[in-house]
Amino acid sequence: MARCLIGCGSNQGNPRGHLADALELLRAMPGVTVVTASRLRATRPIGGPTGQDPFVNGAILIDTDLPPADMLDMLTAIENTLHRDRSDRWGPRTIDLDLLLYDDAVIEQADLTVPHPRMATRRFVLEPCVEIAPDLVHPVAGRSLRSLLANISQPHPHIAVVGVPGSGAPEVAATVADAILARVIHAPAVVPSPKRADFARHWEAALRECAAALQADAWPDDSHGTVTDFWLGTFLAAADGQLPAAEARRTYDRFARTTMPPGVVLLLIAEPATLDERLAFRRRTPAPQTDMFADLVGTATAVADAPPAATADTVAMLITMQDRLRRRLLGAGPVPDDRRRPVVAIRADDLGQAMGDAVAAVEAMA
Ligand code: ADP
Ligand code: MG
Repeated sequence: MARCLIGCGSNQGNPRGHLADALELLRAMPGVTVVTASRLRATRPIGGPTGQDPFVNGAILIDTDLPPADMLDMLTAIENTLHRDRSDRWGPRTIDLDLLLYDDAVIEQADLTVPHPRMATRRFVLEPCVEIAPDLVHPVAGRSLRSLLANISQPHPHIAVVGVPGSGAPEVAATVADAILARVIHAPAVVPSPKRADFARHWEAALRECAAALQADAWPDDSHGTVTDFWLGTFLAAADGQLPAAEARRTYDRFARTTMPPGVVLLLIAEPATLDERLAFRRRTPAPQTDMFADLVGTATAVADAPPAATADTVAMLITMQDRLRRRLLGAGPVPDDRRRPVVAIRADDLGQAMGDAVAAVEAMA
């Protein structure tokens, strides 16, 4: 028997009617026992086309002996019965049923991700969940739903947009800050590339500067928030294989101890082809013509006369770094401190879409 949490929403036709129908259909399913359903609440639409009607959202706790893939098929079948239209991403829908949690399973498949990838920053998801199952634990963050809701309710949130150079972190951070009237802090120093001579010294100097920009005792207490385009944990990822692990950790702890860690991380993930194309773009249009992807300038090959082989090398190095970040922030298995906060993975290949997804993830916290 598995205990599952289902998120449900509707903003078309008769939302409360559709949600009641979905609950009835769920109760009638063989292999499913409905334990409790939250009350329904009206919420404002987030992301997707503008001008949508308000949503009604709720959550349902069930016990089931269906495996996760069958659970998703069953939810899709109920959506189809209730005439779900799938033409617009995040568009109006008669019914949306999401498999939020399935026991403590962590699943990464093409058509099924559990826990639901966007749940941990969504107030419209967490509030009804906390009403019926506050102590259920989100297995990736290793924290209860109650504590995830408290986390997005911090007075002056720190949101970190994290990604390798060329993923668009500075651009996305600036857009998110604009959208929520937050201040933005751009990285005051770059993480040195592994080929850099005198790596240890540059690593420590850059870490010191980045930590100085995040001092907890100087943290504002207004209600706006701070968006950063860097994360100190990136320094540990960069030190892997470059510095003795214990020594890197000691130095890191010394600087990180007094800083305000992010409450939410938006992790940008770029394809190799995207990074390759952005490096080529930087070479064609150097500063001061553009400061797009300026963070790539620190990687030596973003210059006009770099040989193609060097570019391939740089892309490979960036992808290695990106994989390390992903493992630190989103990996399965035991939960290290790095992962005790919500991390939302965002595809970085279409910068406009990445900006929209990042803004939606942050607006969902309010
Ligand atoms: P959202 O639920 O974020 O508004 P959609 O309902 O439009 O997005 O997305 C539906 C698609 O998401 C489905 O085709 C399904 O395969 C996929 N999906 C991945 N993981 C889950 C999950 N845990 N619950 C529901 N759908 C999921
Ligand atoms: Mg859905």
